[in-house]
Amino acid sequence: MQKKIEVLGSLGIFEVSDYIYQKENYNSFIYPSVYKNKIVKLFKILLSNNCKFNCLYCANRKDRDCPRYSFSPEELSKIFYNMWSKNIVDGLFLSSGIDKDVNETEEKMIEVAKILRKKYGYYGYIHLKILPGVDEFLIKKASLYSDRLSLNMETISPEKIKKISNEKDFFKNLLNTLKKLSQINLERPLKNGISTQIIVGSIDEIDRDILNFAFYLYKNYKISRMYYSGFIPVKNTPFENKEPCSLKRQVRLYQADILIRRYNFLPSEIPFDSKGNLFLNKDPKLIWAGKNPDFFPIEINKADFYNLIRVPGIGIKSAKKIIEIRKENKINSPEILKKIGVRLKKAIPYILINGKKIKKDEFIKEKEKIYPEIFDEVI
Ligand code: SF4
Repeated sequence: MQKKIEVLGSLGIFEVSDYIYQKENYNSFIYPSVYKNKIVKLFKILLSNNCKFNCLYCANRKDRDCPRYSFSPEELSKIFYNMWSKNIVDGLFLSSGIDKDVNETEEKMIEVAKILRKKYGYYGYIHLKILPGVDEFLIKKASLYSDRLSLNMETISPEKIKKISNEKDFFKNLLNTLKKLSQINLERPLKNGISTQIIVGSIDEIDRDILNFAFYLYKNYKISRMYYSGFIPVKNTPFENKEPCSLKRQVRLYQADILIRRYNFLPSEIPFDSKGNLFLNKDPKLIWAGKNPDFFPIEINKADFYNLIRVPGIGIKSAKKIIEIRKENKINSPEILKKIGVRLKKAIPYILINGKKIKKDEFIKEKEKIYPEIFDEVI
């Protein structure tokens, strides 16, 4: 049993090779996620690593020679509930390879959630994967027991999916399933919404196309989050000799994604290099500010919310606080800005306080913080 948990847990983690996981070096099946600025531990596991598909990068692909394991819904729900009761994990994130039939596999995954809710009275976090091409009634059923549902788009276009899988149809298996998921979420919103994930760096997709696609999904499918999982080569797969995706590329994609999703940037405003990729050496908001000198400086006591959040070092929370403080008093010193979380080192060149520039020297010792900004919602 322990072996099964280790294998299916490590493969579950592998599916989402996220920045924070790689950075924090967590146990193989406990996946850290940030929710309301706190790290929560998700038990991320596969129901089975049997898969009838042959996606070229995937550890579970049919032709890969590896040990295969599966849980029964009863077995897995019991394991999870025991771990949750002992405070080892805070929530469940369940995915699976597609065994013989996509609907049959999804039914079993839903059964895990149903047993947890009905038999064990578990009301904590459950995130279920929706498998590509699954019937609509099963998505509806999954939504009854889940806080979040997600579908892996894997890549960004019909041309690109052909480079990963000969069997999956971009529209039929992926986008149409996401569309059904989106409609069900609009009719009866899930507590934590819906999300999707793509694998970055296994083929030749460029960041500009990735972010345009993310923008399209945010706008038309109302997804809560797009996850950018860096490709990691797996032994005994056709992609085993490819280079892994760098953590820096993932971080820059998440930073640009936040600008689009929460800071009102259009994808066309994000700065890219001549090949259409993000610059790795600097955060995209800082580069945008450098390229738009006419937009600055911003007067802290007058600027509206959307102008404030364009300033490097001012986030959504600190912009809201600035507006809140201004209702009572004028902001007269940089110390007030520092106290409410403005990163002055970054912001100073772009702001005025009562028409005056601030001297930079006093604030150069601030540390960089990137987690809360990048991973601000549970996955
Ligand atoms: S369908 Fe999913 S689990 Fe199966 S080979 Fe493709 S990516 Fe892997």
